Amino acid sequence: MQPRDLSDHSPYVPGRGVEEVARELGIDRSELIKLSSNENPHGPSPAAVEAIREHADRVNVYPKSSHADLTERIAEEWDVTTEQVWVSPGADGSIDYLSRAALEPDDRVLVPDPGFAYYAMSARYHHAGVETYPLSIDDGFAQTAERVLSAYGGERIVYLTSPHNPSGSVIPLEEVETIADAIAEETLVVVDEAYGEFADVDSAIPLVNDRDDVAVLRTFSKAYGLAGLRIGYSVVPEEWGEAYARVNTPFAASELACRAALAALDDPDHVEESVETARWARDYIARELDAETFDSAGNFVLARVGDGTAVAEAAQERGVIIRDCTSFGLPECVRISTGTREDTREAVDRLNGVLADLELGAKA
Ligand code: PMP
Repeated sequence: MQPRDLSDHSPYVPGRGVEEVARELGIDRSELIKLSSNENPHGPSPAAVEAIREHADRVNVYPKSSHADLTERIAEEWDVTTEQVWVSPGADGSIDYLSRAALEPDDRVLVPDPGFAYYAMSARYHHAGVETYPLSIDDGFAQTAERVLSAYGGERIVYLTSPHNPSGSVIPLEEVETIADAIAEETLVVVDEAYGEFADVDSAIPLVNDRDDVAVLRTFSKAYGLAGLRIGYSVVPEEWGEAYARVNTPFAASELACRAALAALDDPDHVEESVETARWARDYIARELDAETFDSAGNFVLARVGDGTAVAEAAQERGVIIRDCTSFGLPECVRISTGTREDTREAVDRLNGVLADLELGAKA
């Protein structure tokens, strides 16, 4: 007895974890600087931690009112109706809900290459096909309507990522509108704003109210520091609102996750500090790292280092965990998440040592 043929399905490749690497190197985890998964180096908001403690003894009940409260709070924040807010376990959960709501077997989705792997994974789970539009390292992964539209062939969902993972490039809202105007009525444009808080550009959420073919993904994993709780949401067109009840996994967004997200929304100082640090650190990395880097609006910087695997491995030996971008199809690149000011300075220093050593080794 076997599972169905999953040979088309690639496993998700996460950034390496601190425990895993510390064990492998036989060192204490405190000696490591982990900049591989675009997490928040300030941790969660203290208010969120307090909310988790406060509600810990109530996890015997299903998350009903917390879910409703969070939905309402997000709707208020963005001036949309509660039906338009699809709370989910991470933004990944929203990708699944949109797949469930949109895709018939043999539909196709259009995704960026390189890009975030889960769009394609989710589409394939739902028996849909995957097409790609190329983003090019030669023009700094510029995202334009033209690039997307020249690859478009009637797919049911078109994914845009702004800021884009792993490059950090953004797509202007006018380009999003141009795409939405040009494509078929039955194509949904999904703008993934998982890193939206770090960017200095407007969210696409107001577009969702103006039209019926744009949805936006957001998450509490990044700027809000709640990646371990798995909580995010999408904002969908009004006409899609009632589909949520038919496609969501009941109670998938947990009680503690909803409570923590509510508390985090009431702690703007924590988000502000997180965003400020990320902006400082991405500028610092771009300025001080001895490698070509790409302009990033996210909490990470993509760097062209020659041999990404060799650099990531050597960096790990010096206690810095970064993301080898081979799995993104960019074997010459690494992605460095922004850390605290102290960790970022230290990491760049160690990485420059690695780059110098590898260069000397190559010349020898
Ligand atoms: N979109 C992008 C572009 C991402 O990089 C990530 C996380 N790595 C997600 C969505 C999903 O985030 P989460 O499920 O943690 O909300």
